[in-house]
Amino acid sequence: MNLPAPVLTAISKLEASGFEAYAVGGCVRDSILGTEPLDWDITTSALPEEVSEIFRDFKVIPTGIKHGTVTVIISSMHLEITTYRIDGKYEDNRHPVQVTFSRNITEDLSRRDFTINAMAYNPQTGFFDPFRGLDDLNRKIIKAVGIPEKRFSEDALRIMRALRFAAVLGFEIEEKTADAVFQCRTLLKNIAAERIGTELNKILLSPAPDLIFEKYFSVFSERLFGIPSFPDKQKIDFSPLSRTTSDLAPRLAVFIICFAKALNSSPVDFSERFFSNMRYDNQTYRETANTIKNLDIVFSDNRIFLRHIIKEKGLTTVRNLINVQKAFNKSDFCSTEITLEKIIFEQDCCNLRNLAVNGTDLTNGFSLQGEEIGKALVLLLDAVIENKCENKKDALLEYFKNKLLH
Ligand code: ATP
Ligand code: MG
Repeated sequence: MNLPAPVLTAISKLEASGFEAYAVGGCVRDSILGTEPLDWDITTSALPEEVSEIFRDFKVIPTGIKHGTVTVIISSMHLEITTYRIDGKYEDNRHPVQVTFSRNITEDLSRRDFTINAMAYNPQTGFFDPFRGLDDLNRKIIKAVGIPEKRFSEDALRIMRALRFAAVLGFEIEEKTADAVFQCRTLLKNIAAERIGTELNKILLSPAPDLIFEKYFSVFSERLFGIPSFPDKQKIDFSPLSRTTSDLAPRLAVFIICFAKALNSSPVDFSERFFSNMRYDNQTYRETANTIKNLDIVFSDNRIFLRHIIKEKGLTTVRNLINVQKAFNKSDFCSTEITLEKIIFEQDCCNLRNLAVNGTDLTNGFSLQGEEIGKALVLLLDAVIENKCENKKDALLEYFKNKLLH
């Protein structure tokens, strides 16, 4: 395994002072899988104050001193160096009440969630893998460290993490761990909406979210939609997800629609349920909710028709709608998409922002006031959209004078 130079520096400096140190967790997992780790974490027998002392010549940030984490910056790389620790009892199915530092790496690895996340690597001694994470990585298995029910009750976010790793890596969840995922699902009510949303988004944007949702939809249904249980043998077809481009709003819209359809309910109702239970940024909320609200629009490849829809709904919603309707096989959108690309490429004017006249032009030229101005601008925009007038200032003022002013 190749460790970046700053990681090697950090490990050897800790060792030179008589401590143990390893790269640990996600970075070890990702390196073995051949994907560039997002960040490198180091676990060590040194206490936080000892770490700060060893790296006194570097920039040291006391990120989470209470939990034993110190961030050290080496050659502009941020390294989180955390003391071996044991998590005490947990409260609210999420947070350990207290953490105890340890000098034993196995104790540290045993608090980690899954075997593939509980491996450590040292450049001299190689892998330290008491929970056989390497085997599970090769077998493509997500397996809890220890007793799955206990681990999910300690921290229910691990339920979402299990599903997320399975989706993103294309792994199976080991049988007992999967049983516990179902058994502990009600504990998700104690997990903050933002944390659930982050994991859900990663599942939605993974290569095959449909497979995970088809198997595990009942895990989310209460937390996301307030539906505690489904009829036995209920199945939900999530295959439209695999036909949706990998963008968050359309994937989220398709996910919600699939749930609603399975229960013969209205997608708009399910969208409202979802967004009242979750917390999303305004843009994702608007794009997703607008797409679901406008599902019934029937598209054609008529350029004027498409310009009107863009004017009313906005380009993003139109794109999302085509994306979603295609996923449900409503019809062939080839010619519609070609026309849409023409509209975009040739920069057809579809909104007031791009109209060659503005309110001031109308006030100055025709002494219009108040509401009249807005109405006039919309009439002119419609004239441009319908090819009745060119989008040029002179032409528009002339058109207004001759056709609209009375
Ligand atoms: P990613 O960075 O892709 O989200 P990760 O596994 O690296 O995945 P981090 O949040 O960076 O996740 O956490 C680093 C390591 O800390 C994990 O690999 C795991 O060993 C441990 N860890 C993280 N969250 C939990 C948790 N909720 N319960 C137990 N261990 C955890
Ligand atoms: Mg990580």
